[in-house]
Amino acid sequence: MTRIAIIGGGISGLSAAFELEQRRRGGADVDYVLYECSARLGGVLRTEQIDGCVVEAGPDSFVSEKPWAADLCRALEIGDQLIGSNDVERKTYILTRGRLVEMPDGLMFMVPTKILPTGLSSLFSWKTKLRMMRELYHPPRTVDHDESVAAFVERHYGAEMVDRLADPLLSGVYGGEAANLSVRAVLPRFAEMERAHGSLSRAMLAARSKVKATRRPAPPLFTSLRRGMQSLAETVVAQLTPACLLTNTPVQAIQPQAGGWTVSAGMQSDHFDRVVVALPALATAQVLGNASPTLSAELGSIQYSSSITVGLGYDREVRASLPPGFGFLIPRSEGKRLLAATFVHNKFPHRAPEDRALLRCFFAGSNAENVWSLADAQIVGIVRDELQQILGLRAEPLFARVYKWKSAMAQYSVGHLERLERIERLRQQLPGLALAGNGYRGIGVPDCVRSGREAAKELSS
Ligand SMILES: Cc1cc2nc3c(=O)[nH]c(=O)nc-3n(C[C@H](O)[C@H](O)[C@H](O)COP(=O)(O)OP(=O)(O)OC[C@H]3O[C@@H](n4cnc5c(N)ncnc54)[C@H](O)[C@@H]3O)c2cc1C
Repeated sequence: MTRIAIIGGGISGLSAAFELEQRRRGGADVDYVLYECSARLGGVLRTEQIDGCVVEAGPDSFVSEKPWAADLCRALEIGDQLIGSNDVERKTYILTRGRLVEMPDGLMFMVPTKILPTGLSSLFSWKTKLRMMRELYHPPRTVDHDESVAAFVERHYGAEMVDRLADPLLSGVYGGEAANLSVRAVLPRFAEMERAHGSLSRAMLAARSKVKATRRPAPPLFTSLRRGMQSLAETVVAQLTPACLLTNTPVQAIQPQAGGWTVSAGMQSDHFDRVVVALPALATAQVLGNASPTLSAELGSIQYSSSITVGLGYDREVRASLPPGFGFLIPRSEGKRLLAATFVHNKFPHRAPEDRALLRCFFAGSNAENVWSLADAQIVGIVRDELQQILGLRAEPLFARVYKWKSAMAQYSVGHLERLERIERLRQQLPGLALAGNGYRGIGVPDCVRSGREAAKELSS
């Protein structure tokens, strides 16, 4: 019998456990124990049902393009619970000199693919619009070193594009700044487009015409679950063996011993053949500190940023008064503390009753750190103040909830892929150890699911 320890009960660790449970039920001679330091499983996947609304404290959805989370839902037989974003309502605004300006049609991430809507938009100055035209003639180029997303985007479209689009879009996903994030790790497809086509706009147009030629309807951009993201974690847990799940059990250290691994948690230690560490990289660095100080140092150098989400419920009058669309992003240059707000009632079906508006507001990185120590009521006060300035929204919310996530979002800084290669070489020196989680090759829920399942497969085969 192969005994495997899984450290961490977020979606990465739960996915690893699900994979092992399936193999065990399929007759594999394998057993597992999952350690989670807190009282609940699911990590940052947390949903509250408030006043008929589905309020997401952590992730609200995942990108449909990456299949692993939806595949897990189907394997769990909750494929019928998957819901797609209301893409007909898809409109995103950017706060520009205090006004909400709609992102022009044809912008794919920050790459313009339609001349007219971009040319007429007040989002960009004429200087940036001219840069966009010139970008069409950007020569193919292979850059032999990593660079920041900001440097990459600036080379193509200028600094205004970084401020207005690249930075706000990335802070919504990574909670980080375009000036720190690695283009190779965060936007590998764009780096490849530059290599093959030179111009990102031309590359995107070529890719779009290929998609059109297949004549398949585009899937919704985002996918979620009818009862919220926590229901994914709950469904996994319901299919695991309860005796294998140790909550309230923080792991202090893991150590290779006698051809296997000793896991020390509190006053207890247990011996396993193999171990999956499915923790944020910083926590992984701590538990591996004695086993491999070099690996631990590499893991510890992966930075994390904190974030705060605020869910606000309003009545039907507010709903009627809000602009259509998914919500808005706020460039740092606008001097606000909020980074983004989502009109959840528009973005997904089943999130709020017809007579309710549900808003989700987001702080991350230094913006989150600056308000971190404030009481929830003060944070709600800041959010309301800024919503009033931006939307003219004065109404008292029917409910307000603040959720704080300390160092939960990994920052793939410049050089991340090289760091991962060093981590992989050091990991290979520790047989029976696998790493999963958001610190490595994808921060989103689908990548975490993939990483957990792959780690379990590697150790059980
Ligand atoms: C606010 C927010 C919004 C997000 N939005 C989206 C989104 O919309 N779409 C998307 O795809 N992704 C989103 N993400 C990213 C994604 O949700 C996470 O990257 C992913 O869920 C991380 O899962 P995980 O299991 O790797 O880590 P976690 O969820 O952090 O789980 C790690 C677990 O390990 C436990 N733990 C820590 N130390 C120990 C220890 N020593 N011993 C035992 N247990 C320990 C923790 O308690 C925790 O339960 C968001 C993240 C945040 C924070």
